[in-house]
Amino acid sequence: MTTPEPAAPGSPSLASSLDDLRRAYADLQSLGLRLDLTRGKPSAEQLDLSEALLALPGEGVHTDADGTDVRNYGGLDGLPQLRRIFAELLGVPVEQLLAAGNASLTLMYDTLAYATLFGVPGSERPWGREETVRWICPVPGYDRHFSVCEALGIEMVTVPMTPDGPDADAVAGLVADDPTIKGMWVVPTYANPDGSVVTEEVARALVSVPAAAPDFRILWDNAYALHHLTDDEVTSADAISLAAEAGHPDRVVLYASTSKITFAGAGVAFLASSPANVAWYKKHLSAQSIGPDKVNQLRHALFFGDADGVRAHMRKHREIIAPKFDAVTSILAERLGGTGVASWTEPKGGYFVSLEVVPGTASRVVELAKAAGIALTPAGAPFPYGKDPEDKVLRLAPTLPPIEEVRVAMDGVATCVLLAAAEHAAR
Ligand code: PMP
Repeated sequence: MTTPEPAAPGSPSLASSLDDLRRAYADLQSLGLRLDLTRGKPSAEQLDLSEALLALPGEGVHTDADGTDVRNYGGLDGLPQLRRIFAELLGVPVEQLLAAGNASLTLMYDTLAYATLFGVPGSERPWGREETVRWICPVPGYDRHFSVCEALGIEMVTVPMTPDGPDADAVAGLVADDPTIKGMWVVPTYANPDGSVVTEEVARALVSVPAAAPDFRILWDNAYALHHLTDDEVTSADAISLAAEAGHPDRVVLYASTSKITFAGAGVAFLASSPANVAWYKKHLSAQSIGPDKVNQLRHALFFGDADGVRAHMRKHREIIAPKFDAVTSILAERLGGTGVASWTEPKGGYFVSLEVVPGTASRVVELAKAAGIALTPAGAPFPYGKDPEDKVLRLAPTLPPIEEVRVAMDGVATCVLLAAAEHAAR
């Protein structure tokens, strides 16, 4: 969280009376805005960066570098030409990396669904036959991870996030004696929503922690591995190797996708893990599919060429979205700095800014913003079951709207944060 700076002179601040803030809010409402900061979607300008994909591979181009005819069935592992590029980028051996369909969330769901139906390597029985299966969810976290657990009847237990990733001591305390805890979510790089990065030390602690469950898994969702916003481009900890070194070779399953690299609905998703886990995953996948969409995979391989092609492409994304993140954090600093009613993250990558407001007011901020035509992610969304126990965390997603709209929306959000805090203080 940032050290707040002084508020800009002239703007309504917490020192303004409740009446002044109500007037500022009425002015905001009179603008008749219709703005949306709800979901982390790429903007049209970002999607345009990959427009050339629509003409690839092109009529007559249907064999990959290894001579595979991509139009036909087969190749459950995915196209080697594309896997080689992403193995380099994700720091995993190519033999341990699968290229799959268009969504990594599907791969995560399938991993847990297979575990529920069949168990994973090391399980005593299918997880579905256990009385209770529990799962650690670092909070704030990604709402769709929580939906996967909920859909499969997996109970969620929370641990706090720190600027260096999930609180590893809290994890150790939970898993040491409780065999019902079968695993945890981790978003290691530029986490959704707090932008934190798991340090090597925390990664080592998580993969080494003695767990009562012999089949404890870490679903290592590296959705933002390549999504830098500054020159300080972090390299994600190599959790798969670290886990093997720690004597838990099957603990980590890694996921990534090109959803926020090329097209969010038509990218390619990846799964990497130990040889045993990859074989296990493929065994169950082979009953479900004869092979992935290799045409799309070839299209992506041709579009990028190599790993540097992906890196260069990501810099173009950065040029478009970094100014939007700067707009968010500078307007928050101008309007809320020094007021003591809010703190926020300044992410070096990823898609979100996490804003903490006065406890007990986050849902009121969302309500006020909605009534002023600014749609925010529901308060509570970054928590299991949609419930933020302190009602204080808001997730801001600035990539989709044009920058002028981001500015107007953030100024409006600041007014709502101040009004909600003043109302709360007056209670
Ligand atoms: N993981 C995280 C942490 C995300 O934020 C998102 C997208 N919002 C996803 C996964 C979804 O990825 P995909 O499109 O590959 O399913």
